[in-house]
Amino acid sequence: MIRAPRPHGRPSIQTDLLNSAFSVLAAIAVFWVFATAVLAFVGLREELINANSVRIAGLADSLARPLSVADRFQTERILHAWVAANGASSAIVLDAAGDVAAVSGAADSQYRFADGAVGSATGLSEVRISHAVKDDDVRVGLVAATFTLDAVYHLIVLAAASLLLLAMLTLWLGRYVLKRLAIRVLRPLAELAAVADAVALSPDNGQRAIEGGPREVADLAKAFNTMLDVLQNKSEALDQKMRQSALTEAELGRLTLTDPMTHLGNRAGFLQELPRVAERSRQEGSNIAVIHLDLDDFKVINDSLGHEVGDRLLQAVAERLSARRRDGDSLCRVGGDEFALILASITSLRTAVDVVVTMLSALTETYEIDGRNLHIRASAGIALYPAQTEDLANLVRFADLAMHQAKSAGKNDYCVYTSELLSRTNDRLSMESELRRGLDNDEFELYYQPQVDIQSGRVVGLEALLRWRHPSGELIQPGYFIPVAEQSDLIVLLGRKIITMACRQWQEWREEGIEPRRLAINISGRQLADDDFASELLATMTQSGYPLPRLELEITESLLLSGMKIAKGTFRRLVAAGLEWSLDDFGTGYSSLTYLTKYPIHNLKIDRSFVTRLPGDESSEAIVKAILAMAKGLGMQVVVEGAETKDQIDYLKSIGAVVVQGYYYYRPLAADAVSDLLRQQATVGVSG
Ligand code: C2E
Ligand code: MG
Ligand code: MG
Repeated sequence: MIRAPRPHGRPSIQTDLLNSAFSVLAAIAVFWVFATAVLAFVGLREELINANSVRIAGLADSLARPLSVADRFQTERILHAWVAANGASSAIVLDAAGDVAAVSGAADSQYRFADGAVGSATGLSEVRISHAVKDDDVRVGLVAATFTLDAVYHLIVLAAASLLLLAMLTLWLGRYVLKRLAIRVLRPLAELAAVADAVALSPDNGQRAIEGGPREVADLAKAFNTMLDVLQNKSEALDQKMRQSALTEAELGRLTLTDPMTHLGNRAGFLQELPRVAERSRQEGSNIAVIHLDLDDFKVINDSLGHEVGDRLLQAVAERLSARRRDGDSLCRVGGDEFALILASITSLRTAVDVVVTMLSALTETYEIDGRNLHIRASAGIALYPAQTEDLANLVRFADLAMHQAKSAGKNDYCVYTSELLSRTNDRLSMESELRRGLDNDEFELYYQPQVDIQSGRVVGLEALLRWRHPSGELIQPGYFIPVAEQSDLIVLLGRKIITMACRQWQEWREEGIEPRRLAINISGRQLADDDFASELLATMTQSGYPLPRLELEITESLLLSGMKIAKGTFRRLVAAGLEWSLDDFGTGYSSLTYLTKYPIHNLKIDRSFVTRLPGDESSEAIVKAILAMAKGLGMQVVVEGAETKDQIDYLKSIGAVVVQGYYYYRPLAADAVSDLLRQQATVGVSG
């Protein structure tokens, strides 16, 4: 505990006032003593005169006789005896003629030549008293005596000195008492005040008042110190809390900016870092590149091998990417399987491309996780600042756009942002919001295109094809909006709607007794990737309580080839429930056909592009024939799409094609038209 220093330095006004008061009191005391001395002097002198006047009257009486007889001897004797007895300094006796009859002591000429007046005369050093000497009322002479005032002076000086001493003593005592009071009471109080001031003004909470002085003051100081102790404890606790919370805040700040799994920055960290790097590059006059890197089909690994393996793979990817980044570049994990890289101070796009190429190829090397060999690829988008945009939000968006472009161009590649990409995206985004609105407003309908038995001409199946009845009145074809819907969750929402609509329609036909033999619906990759797809589909199909409609699910060959892993059991489960799988647009893929044996595919739909060149185009003919033969060998059915002419139909017949879906027979028809057709066919069937 630090004690407050005693206040020191120049005397206070209080001390000055006290000193002045004592000086004035001392002056007053001196004056008072002097005045008292003067008054005492006058009084004592008067008393001396009075007392000796009586005595000199007695002397005059005793001198009356000798003087009247001019007995000089007797006169002198009486005078001497009287002077000696009464302490006069001198005395003189004059006869009636005014001559000196007797003298005692050093009587000066004043007496000798006294005019004979009686009474007293006073001076500062002596008094003279004279008295007439009468004998039977006849004046026979005069006697005068002089007394010095030495005794009076002695008395007065003694008294004054005593008084002065007493006054000074009293003053000194007063001063001493006050001083003691100041030391004992005022000083501790002043110190207390000083400590209070110091505590209030300084950040040092350790100062304490001295607990000395009189009990009351000591108690006050003690109480004050206790209060300071309490305050200090509270303030220390508060400090600690603040330090703790500052720590927690820093820790929180660090945590909120870091991805705990890869220890890279997270999205927030990335967004915090970007402006810093951008500002630096702006000052340097260089560019920065933002690279958005997204793993291809990572969900498949997560779904099939579990999240633990997925996480390990992400860590391994993060390590590989980190190892290949240049000093000063920032790498962050900005989403599940998304990474963002900020390349600082680059002078040309080439640098960014080189980094991306190195990273992408590093990622393709085999990963060994839990004794398994895993492979993963990634797609990346590159955008430059400030060359392509000075807006950092746009910069991030552009890199993202470019990454998506790389994905849709076939994945495992990079794409550099271009403004043309943006305009396409803007179209896409406005289309997306339009689609969502359309979905909310039930603007979608299913058209159905009949599949016809080429021999009998009968409708053996229908393919449901989506149409968008736009509020403008236009009927929009799926080729225009499905690719957009496929870029987001919209295709899943649309897909659910299609399944519900198709099932409901099937139900209507069934109730009317004109249900088609089979109904095909198109399923896109995102729908299949959903674990719940099979359950949801089966739930929708059985909602009506009737037996399952004979649904056929069309997936594209490119979907199977993309390597996208369809949730385990989806195929099997749906096949077990009586559904069939069709491979749409068959022949447009260019991979081996071995995968056909891996999946339980029932039907192949030969793509229209082969049919349009029939007959005549040798390679188209060869392909169509080969597919027909292969399908036969694998026990699959074939639907030939896009036949528009009689020649095509004839040719297809000649090579043994069985079912055709093409404009030659029917275009996609609205549900009512299909109902008419089915009714008509049912009648023909019944009559035939
Ligand atoms: P797709 O599944 O191959 O459907 C066949 C497409 O070929 C249909 O086009 C159909 O109208 C067209 N087509 C059939 N015969 C002929 C013909 O003789 N000549 C010509 N020029 N075209 C013919 P549409 O209805 O425009 O559908 C285009 C694509 O949109 C579909 O190709 C399918 O991939 C997709 N699609 C349509 N409806 C849906 C749907 O409900 N869900 C999903 N995921 N995709 C759908
Ligand atoms: Mg189709
Ligand atoms: Mg097709």
